[in-house]
This record gives sequence, structure tokens and C-alpha cells, in this order.
Amino acid sequence: MLDDPESLIETLKKQLQWHKERGTYGIREPDLKKHSESLQMIREDLGDCQRCKLSSMRTHIVFGDGAPDADIMFVGEAPGEAEDQQGLPFVGRSGQLLTKMIAAMGYNREDVYIANVLKCRPPKNRDPESDEIVACRSFLFRQITAIDPQVIITLGRPAIQLLLDTKEPLSKFRGMFQFFQNIPVMPTYHPAYLLRSPSKKKDAWEDLQKVMATIKK
Ligand code: SF4
Repeated sequence: MLDDPESLIETLKKQLQWHKERGTYGIREPDLKKHSESLQMIREDLGDCQRCKLSSMRTHIVFGDGAPDADIMFVGEAPGEAEDQQGLPFVGRSGQLLTKMIAAMGYNREDVYIANVLKCRPPKNRDPESDEIVACRSFLFRQITAIDPQVIITLGRPAIQLLLDTKEPLSKFRGMFQFFQNIPVMPTYHPAYLLRSPSKKKDAWEDLQKVMATIKK
């Protein structure tokens, strides 16, 4: 539920503007398919995935973690070394910072859902390649449909580029609500970038505050 009439109107305005720019006017329809496919069913379908070349290099698939009915869903880039070892998203240094960001928003990690564009670690943490994203993306999309969060927060460039189907840089969208399947999306920096550029933490916190203003717990 959005917080109050003013924030609802503001969100609808942004949503209509977003559709206007793309020539796809429309109001979000009641999600009759909500929870029709569980996360467990999606995980079982993923199986011991061999759909892209990363399968031969991984230790564990990192499917995602958190509440299946989360209000907030975070979408990062891909597992790193610690995540690949443990099979869980955001458990390394970036994960520790993400946990602090979640706590600052008034949530525990278990309250939100965390996933990535890719479910297997790219070698040496290189950027995801397009064939890997194409092979993996449907599982993320199905996770989003199953969870149906109030807001998605994307962390870094690949996640927002995937959800908006764009090659535009993160800087074009950061801090401004977008929409994926009519779910509000807040693009912000990846925690790994924030570790390298601490001066950007203030901007990221402002992005998270905008999300908090739209959420009713
Ligand atoms: S990255 Fe995705 S598509 Fe590629 S092997 Fe892993 S789970 Fe399968």
C-alpha cells in the first residue's frame, strides 16, 4: 500500500509519464497471477542450471534470499566470490554495507528479498555478458512476479539496464522512480561502488529515503 493520497497521486503521475514516453498508456491491472508461481517452483525449474557458460565456473547457484512476500526487493548484478562460496546473495563486504543500508531503512535483511541479474559468478567479477543475461533474466522476472514487491531497488548499472531494457547509463535514472511491470523501481548505486566511492553514500541514502516515503509497512 502506498502511504497517502498525495504520494499515490505523485507515483501515478510518474507512472503515466513513464508510459507516455513509451506510448504504452495504462494503469496497473489487479495482479490475478500474484503468487500463482512460488519461489520454490521457480528454484526447482532453475535446477542445476546449465543454460549459460557460467555454469561451468560456479561453486553454487545464488538464487536469491529473503521474504517471499517482501515489500522491498533489491536487485544487484551477480554473485561475487563470497556469494559463490556460500550460495547466498550479498554476503561479502558489499553485502555488509547493503545490510547496513537495509537497517537504516528500518528493515532486517529477512524482511526484504535480495536477488541478482545473474545467479552465477562471472570470472574475476567481470561485468555480465549479454548472452548470460538473456539466458538468466527470465528467472529474475519470475521472482519479481512471485514476490510482487511494493518497490524494487536496483543496485548498479546492469540491474536497471535489464529492467528498463535500455543501454543508457545509471546516471540517467539514479534517484528517479522508474517502473518495471508497473512496479516502481528506484535505481541507486551498487554497494561495491559505494565502498570505492564513499562520497556517493549520501546520494544513495537520499534514494533510499524516497523509497521509504512510498512504503507503508
Ligand atoms: S547465470 Fe543463470 S542462466 Fe547462467 S548458468 Fe547460472 S543460473 Fe543458469
